[in-house]
Amino acid sequence: MDTERTTLAHRPLTRADRCDRCSAAAQARAVLPHGELLFCGHHLRAHRAPLLAAGAVLDGPAA
Ligand SMILES: [Zn+2]
Repeated sequence: MDTERTTLAHRPLTRADRCDRCSAAAQARAVLPHGELLFCGHHLRAHRAPLLAAGAVLDGPAA
């Protein structure tokens, strides 16, 4: 098994993952240089532009 290359950034989102803004089910992950944030679809749309401007890499079904 090649588990060592599976980082947190590549772990699929699950129903246990919650939006950092409202605790709805997370639909996307934003990976930033200093950490990662999870967002529901609503908050991803609300924060997409500033996240991208900050250099975030978006991942997930709603990204
Ligand atoms: Zn949310």
